[in-house]
Amino acid sequence: MTLTPPPLRNDCFALPAGVDWTPVDVALDHLRQTLTPVTLSEVLPLGECLGCVLAEDVHAARSNPPQPNTAVDGYGFAGPVADGPQIMALVTGRAAAGQAYDGEVPHGTAIRILTGAALPQGVDTVILEEDVSSDGEKIAFRGPLKKGSNTRKAGEDACAGDLILPKGRVITPADLALASATGLPELLVRQPLRIGVLSTGDELVESGMQAAAGQIYDANRPMLLALLTQMGFVAIDLGKAADDRTALRAHLDSAASKVDAILTSGGASAGDEDHMSALLRESGAMQQWRIALKPGRPLALGLWKGTPVFGLPGNPVAAMVCTLIFARPAMGLMAGASWAEPQGFDLPAAFEKRKKPGRREYLRARVRDGKVEVFQSEGSGRVSSLSWAEGLVELADGAGEIKPGAPVRFIPYSSFRL
Ligand code: AMP
Ligand code: MG
Repeated sequence: MTLTPPPLRNDCFALPAGVDWTPVDVALDHLRQTLTPVTLSEVLPLGECLGCVLAEDVHAARSNPPQPNTAVDGYGFAGPVADGPQIMALVTGRAAAGQAYDGEVPHGTAIRILTGAALPQGVDTVILEEDVSSDGEKIAFRGPLKKGSNTRKAGEDACAGDLILPKGRVITPADLALASATGLPELLVRQPLRIGVLSTGDELVESGMQAAAGQIYDANRPMLLALLTQMGFVAIDLGKAADDRTALRAHLDSAASKVDAILTSGGASAGDEDHMSALLRESGAMQQWRIALKPGRPLALGLWKGTPVFGLPGNPVAAMVCTLIFARPAMGLMAGASWAEPQGFDLPAAFEKRKKPGRREYLRARVRDGKVEVFQSEGSGRVSSLSWAEGLVELADGAGEIKPGAPVRFIPYSSFRL
């Protein structure tokens, strides 16, 4: 059942030639068309499927409900019932959930019935207990009552054979309820995508170590490891690499054999110390993506010995935004998931901003009193802004002038599965 998926094509990151600053949507469409699942599939019991990606369409094994039953506690009989006062004799016995009544209820008589009980033969309608008076031998109530009142039809939720969960879906707690209710004890899911995270830069020091003048503590690696974990991937700490081509090459070589994809930060532009892009270029399967995005700067995307590498910019804000906007849906496809489109909401702005044309912008934002606030600085090194924010405001590619009260698109972090 578990075939090894084909490798990614060498040109999977090749954007159309001749494009200089690529619009965000063009770049996303490209990833969407070229990336394919790289993980194996396995059958897991339902209890282990939460957060896993479905490897095939799932169909109900049994209808839910399997047979007609009552939605309330009350009395069952054959409907409909005409307008006006009614009296019906009660049959002996009762029908309860899990305790079917074997006999047939004769026309014109009623049976005591409790929520979830399968409707006995001769019963298609139920009256609420609260609307009835009873002496234990007969009941009195007032019509009219439509046939089928207070009952659930067989298969009204799902019929045996119905497609209940599509391939590529990330399993939620409610999906587990649906699979279980329709008779499925296990599912065919993808093994999780293993993603290595590497920081690059001579200036980086581990938090807790002594930092010399000019050195900074690594912000990206703990953030990226945690982002990937929350998104349902297996995040693997690859440590940090100096700005040295030989050392970086060794890091990538050892990572490529251990993980399904590599996420690096730093050194992704075209400068003297941008060794990540230089190395990927050497490997022959590298694309420098100049995306019309703020905060963004270039991304270096390539294959290292067949393993995809996402070279993120070093600035923490750009690293996080590029992970949410590009790496998440791209890695989702490699993990076998369907394309992840973050859901945003239009809400009134609590800020003012004039925006230049020609690039998409993401602002660090949060909602207070129903209005969207943005962080006071757009600086791309402001780690505190990422922590302050609870989502992003997405400003369309064209020029724009936002006045307080105007609607803006807010995408909560939770829309990225955070
Ligand atoms: P680079 O993309 O390597 O040119 O780095 C851009 C900026 O991000 C520089 O100011 C770096 O010091 C900073 N930077 C790079 N990597 C990290 C990191 N892991 N944590 C915090 N800042 C970083
Ligand atoms: Mg650097």
